Formats: sequence, C-alpha cells, structure tokens
Amino acid sequence: MMDSEERPFSMHDPEERLCEFCTDIFYAHHGLQRYCPEKFGKKDYCKYEQKKLLTETRLAERVTELAKAGMNVYQDTPLDRNKKAIFEIMGSDWQKTVDSSLLDSVGYQINHFDSKTLINETNMFLIHVGDYTLEWIGQEGTVLIFKITKK
Ligand SMILES: [Zn+2]
Repeated sequence: MMDSEERPFSMHDPEERLCEFCTDIFYAHHGLQRYCPEKFGKKDYCKYEQKKLLTETRLAERVTELAKAGMNVYQDTPLDRNKKAIFEIMGSDWQKTVDSSLLDSVGYQINHFDSKTLINETNMFLIHVGDYTLEWIGQEGTVLIFKITKK
C-alpha cells in the first residue's frame, strides 16, 4: 500500500507503447497514456500537437463540406439557366413571340427543358420549361420564331 500511495502510476509495470502522434516508443505508466509524456523538452508535446492537428483537420473538412454545399446551391444546370432566361424575357407578360436570336443572346439552350408534349395531329412539340411553354411557330431564314406562354 505504501508503494502505491507514493507512486500512484507505478502500480503496474510500465508498458511499451507507440505514441499515436509521433509513433515513437514510450513507456506508459497508466492505461490512458497515448502519447509521449514529453518531447523536445516539452511536457505533453505530442498530445497537444495531435489535438491541434485534429482541430485543423476538422476545420479543413468543414471548409470542404461548405464549399461542396455552396457548389450544389449555386451551380446552375442549363435548365436552371433557361428558366431564369425565360423569366427575364417574359417579365410580367403572359405571352410573347420571340425569335431564336433573342434566346441565343441570353444563353438559352433549346435542347434543355422539363418535358415536351406532341401537339395534336401535328409533328410539333410544346416544350415545357418551368412555368412556361415554348411553341415553335415559324421560321425566317435561319431564325426560328417561338411563342412563349405562361401556364
Ligand atoms: Zn510522441
């Protein structure tokens, strides 16, 4: 009993362990020791360096997560851009006739849409984009004419 009171960590034989930070071998005097008791003349150097490293790693991971989340929020698909373009072209109008050069000028990509439906007894389609439908109604030279209607 005298022995354990004087040297509380000497109850067990020191155990050889690998420091979880620097991987040096140290002698652990109790079960919870995971790092060198001392390194470079500093007490608990490895323990605090490991803690710092973990905090930095967590911060770096968090920054990456946020960046990814931000990209998901702000990276528009061509369809998203089409919806915005139509919204800007239409303003408060419920119907407008536009030509493909106007659509081109705002970066509209005609091959991106929510769905399209065949117009009865024709081989023409109604193109559905967000709250609007586009109908191809004519052509002047290479310029296509569309009627845009709000649903
Ligand atoms: Zn160490």
